[in-house]
Amino acid sequence: MPDEQPTETGNCYACKREFSYDPKEVTTFLVDLATGLPPGLTAFGTIRPATPEAVQRSVDLPVCPDCVAAAKRAGEAGGLWR
Ligand SMILES: [Zn+2]
Repeated sequence: MPDEQPTETGNCYACKREFSYDPKEVTTFLVDLATGLPPGLTAFGTIRPATPEAVQRSVDLPVCPDCVAAAKRAGEAGGLWR
């Protein structure tokens, strides 16, 4: 089956806005579905070792370019953004 449409549509993890993206190019954010936070980050914003279970149930959610730019400007996300 030819891959004629390189773009997908999804909702931004940060702002929930619907946007189109190229799955190969988009910035994603690894989120533990049980907590809504990245594995290894607690609700208090402190870092803890990510358990294999947390990583296993985590999914990569797309983040729109606007939020990526905002996060980079804020400069406080540290190594969370990739
Ligand atoms: Zn966004």
